[in-house]
Amino acid sequence: MKSAGFCPTFHKLEGYFSSRKFITLRCRPKRSSDGKITAVIPRQHLLALTGPELVSFIGELGEPAFRARQVFAALHHRRLRSFEEMTDLPKELRAKLDSVATPSTLNIESRYLSADGTRRYLMKTHDGLPVETVFIPEERRDTICFSSQSGCPLQCSFCLTAQLGLLRSLTPGEIVEQVIVALNDAYGVGQKPQHGTNLVGMGAGEPFLAFESLMKALSIIADPNGLHIVPNRVTVSTAGIVPRIRELATVSERPHLAVSLGAPTDEQRNVLMPINRKWPLAELLGACKEFERSLKRGERFTFEYVMLRDVNDSDEHARQLANLLNRHELRVKVNLIPHNAAEPLPYHPSSRGRVESFKSILEAKGLPAFVRRPRGQDIFAACGQLAARREANPAQV
Ligand code: SAH
Repeated sequence: MKSAGFCPTFHKLEGYFSSRKFITLRCRPKRSSDGKITAVIPRQHLLALTGPELVSFIGELGEPAFRARQVFAALHHRRLRSFEEMTDLPKELRAKLDSVATPSTLNIESRYLSADGTRRYLMKTHDGLPVETVFIPEERRDTICFSSQSGCPLQCSFCLTAQLGLLRSLTPGEIVEQVIVALNDAYGVGQKPQHGTNLVGMGAGEPFLAFESLMKALSIIADPNGLHIVPNRVTVSTAGIVPRIRELATVSERPHLAVSLGAPTDEQRNVLMPINRKWPLAELLGACKEFERSLKRGERFTFEYVMLRDVNDSDEHARQLANLLNRHELRVKVNLIPHNAAEPLPYHPSSRGRVESFKSILEAKGLPAFVRRPRGQDIFAACGQLAARREANPAQV
């Protein structure tokens, strides 16, 4: 690993990643009879295919369905990231596959380990864009936080990812691959997770602006013959893309929903989260109500509220927030997230006392409120800190 300031602890954790080469060729050339390149055909990212799609893809290569099942297991169950490792497949088939498809496209550039055990992976897409994923170990279960976009278009003023702007939305394969990378690193290639794994779509980007990719990725991730992480284990967070909240309300197999509020009034939310100018609070909470009505047993729906010192954390803000949610008859759990430092942004986390006072006002007005413990702050892995930072804070590692 080459980058200056790279966390030395990671050298010790270095496993199979070190052997992975930079992926530069994602396309195969199509040649005319005299050997000239006439077109470039992108290779199919196999992780973007559902089981049945893989059967057709492999069928088109003249191979029987059982080969597709073998490949699916190799990709999603054994979590292999190269055809060379799939030694149960005939060599010729591996060569054939390699000419038209790829089992992995993300290149792991660096990994950072937090003092609290959180790991952050900084990867590059085949076209050179940053993708970040975070693995958060917990006592009874582990959580993988994946990104849905490279960068983000939403410009929330308290979030570092916003500074990247939108580079592009990620493909279903790139979302699935993040989970595979994190699982392999945390447990070993193909090893069964020691705990249950939860997923949260709270990394870089706005998942509901990558809705199709997201939903397809989640269906692939849920496959019992593969990763088998079902939607009930997944929570997706949105800044408030109203049409997609309404759409999700009609979907039966769906992840849990979290909606980021960040401010109790349109006036303030317009500034902190400019998406509010497109879908103001009344519209957003109307869609939330519709979603709440569609909830089935066991489904969770939460609000998130980032707490910015002296900006949105006063008792008055708490009362406004509680009244707003009560007006819309939304007795939904509120997660309070103390702001994670995101220099050069001009915000600071609210003090403990302030957070507690805010929380008790919400509770007194009938809203269950919880304070989220930040994880991985020292390696820029916490909420709102993902901005493709290459340095870690060595003092805390
Ligand atoms: N775009 C989606 C998902 C990514 S952000 C969304 O906005 O919900 C995930 C959560 O982190 C959101 O609730 C967001 O408000 C919060 N967040 C963003 N920047 C933060 C920061 N610097 N500190 C704490 N939370 C932050």
